[in-house]
Amino acid sequence: MTAPDVAVIGGGIVGCALAAFLAEGGARVVLYEREAIAAGASGRNSGVVQHTLDAALSSLYEESLEHYRTLGHGFELPAEPAGLLLVSDHPETLEAPPAEFAELRPTFLEGAALKAAEPALADGLAAYRLETGHPVPPAAAASAFAASARAAGADLRIGAAAHVAIEDGRAAGVTVGGELHAAGAVVVAAGPWTPEAITGDAARRVPIAPLWGVVVELELAAPPRHVLEEAGIDVLTSEAGAPATLFSAVTARGISAVGSTFLPERPDPAALAPGVLARGARFLPGLTSGRVLGLRACARPSSADGRPMLGLLPGVEGLAVASGHGPWGITLGPASARLVADQLLGHPAEIPPALGAGRF
Ligand SMILES: Cc1cc2nc3c(=O)[nH]c(=O)nc-3n(C[C@H](O)[C@H](O)[C@H](O)COP(=O)(O)OP(=O)(O)OC[C@H]3O[C@@H](n4cnc5c(N)ncnc54)[C@H](O)[C@@H]3O)c2cc1C
Repeated sequence: MTAPDVAVIGGGIVGCALAAFLAEGGARVVLYEREAIAAGASGRNSGVVQHTLDAALSSLYEESLEHYRTLGHGFELPAEPAGLLLVSDHPETLEAPPAEFAELRPTFLEGAALKAAEPALADGLAAYRLETGHPVPPAAAASAFAASARAAGADLRIGAAAHVAIEDGRAAGVTVGGELHAAGAVVVAAGPWTPEAITGDAARRVPIAPLWGVVVELELAAPPRHVLEEAGIDVLTSEAGAPATLFSAVTARGISAVGSTFLPERPDPAALAPGVLARGARFLPGLTSGRVLGLRACARPSSADGRPMLGLLPGVEGLAVASGHGPWGITLGPASARLVADQLLGHPAEIPPALGAGRF
């Protein structure tokens, strides 16, 4: 059998989009996923494609929206954004979004104006409304890109845990069950498990760690019209660290996803769900009478500086990384995957240094 041009490790949004773009670009691709497509955060997230308020990531957001508009395979991006309300129960501390994001038309709302825009909110809050936020079911993007990859000829091997095989300073392929599967190049898109899938010295240059989130799925009598987010999520992309819980609520197709925690260790979702709902009820009183449908727990792949790590890793020929999207993998994953696929296909490299895999 001829070795594939590229082996992809990981079947989340990033790995599936990579497999699709690589195969569409003419590469022979094998994707290895140890559990199931979208088994990690790509199947259990809050489900919103939104601006990240980080200028270094704006072009990835814009480009990903374009990919989603044409993706097909059952994926539907709402034509218009639902609007994002950055809410605070301490209105005096609520800061305006930076002026450079004026295209999101930030509008300050409080009192009757906020109630009119979002009747589901509690009294006494203030918010900035931003023109962004497209709710989608959590696994929809990864599943559609997996279908797109298969349609383009990629071979998706499910139930296969793979690790990078490095020989003489180059990626020779992957090992699966102790057996070498040769490949021309390897790209690791294994979410928070990316360093584990690389192993050895090269793994130490990929500082990506899990940040676990618990989300409660509910059916609400009067679900919010907007995507709701407690002001402060920007700290998640700063190096200062993350608070343990921040409220968010996203409603897609009648199901509201209320989150979330930010924890380094795998949590017990049932133990944390009451706290997530109690914090959420400060903003959305209707949560107390909602019907709980289920719990989601998953890990954000968080890099040391909060931004994705993309492209060839210096020091090991033919080894690339596509991970570290933290809380924004659904939002940014398609454009990130396109950048890495283009680099591996030999197209002119466009990966900005701030997102390059070799920056640590
Ligand atoms: C609670 C929560 C809510 C979120 N909400 C949003 C949101 O609303 N919008 C947004 O943009 N982002 C959101 N995110 C972030 C987003 O979900 C992630 O950034 C994104 O899913 C990461 O995708 P990924 O493909 O990099 O990794 P993952 O989804 O983790 O996929 C990695 C895959 O690799 C597989 N794997 C691991 N090791 C191996 C191996 N050795 N061999 C083979 N397979 C392996 C795993 O089984 C997994 O399927 C949220 C995250 C959390 C935790």
